[in-house]
Amino acid sequence: MADSEKFIDSHCHLPKNRFLREWDQNIQKWRKMGIKAIIGVSMTKNESLRIIELARNEDIIIPAIGIHPWKVKKDIDANSLYDEYAKIIKNHPNVAAIGEVGLDYRFVEKIERYPFQRKVFETFSMLARDFQLILNIHCVNATKDLLEILRKNNIPAKQCIFHWYSGTEEELQEVLRFGPYFSITPAVEYSKTHQNTARQAPLNKILTESDGDVKYKNGTRGSPESIPQVIKNLATIRETDIEEMKAQIWSNFCKLFSKKEDGLST
Ligand SMILES: [Zn+2]
Repeated sequence: MADSEKFIDSHCHLPKNRFLREWDQNIQKWRKMGIKAIIGVSMTKNESLRIIELARNEDIIIPAIGIHPWKVKKDIDANSLYDEYAKIIKNHPNVAAIGEVGLDYRFVEKIERYPFQRKVFETFSMLARDFQLILNIHCVNATKDLLEILRKNNIPAKQCIFHWYSGTEEELQEVLRFGPYFSITPAVEYSKTHQNTARQAPLNKILTESDGDVKYKNGTRGSPESIPQVIKNLATIRETDIEEMKAQIWSNFCKLFSKKEDGLST
């Protein structure tokens, strides 16, 4: 059964203790259930280096490096950041994505940090553009500023994934006009704003993610094992067959990484 399954988790915090504790068993379990790829995102530079290490022996892990907007402090030197991360990318050809990066004007309350968030996000966007990497984006209450940065720096929308997007209807329309991929989380089961994203995103731009190991309001905890349920929820919302939805998402993911659909190796 698992051979015919093709699940993808386009945003999971793999360097978390919950996953690391029983790492080999976890990887084995995920492979067995048909998980074909996991974009392992990072919050800090330490996690970025860790995910590169974790991906070394596991072909299903796509390492994403970056600094999460919650971790952007005032003393961050955005000027040296580009060179620092460019060096990591050049030294590790398996790095295929940048993330989790973005802007957060809600959970980060200190307004004086926002200009630093913008500078850091802009730097990571430029790295994604210059090295042709996928940009895994966190955007909360900051859609206008975030799109402005992407447009100003000519970041192709086809390289961008908006993760767990839950903006207002007006903001969502702005993002749809830009045209990125949207990755849908288990919150789609109960969150009205996230359901709205899932309903309106073009079918050929939808991806699935767990945002593991986040704890959801319905009591579940994100992990690659959450993906089949997300697909079921998506199929219900889009009034389509589960198998069709699964195939669509796999095809979207392959296109995103320009891979052949019969496997992840080109
Ligand atoms: Zn996340």
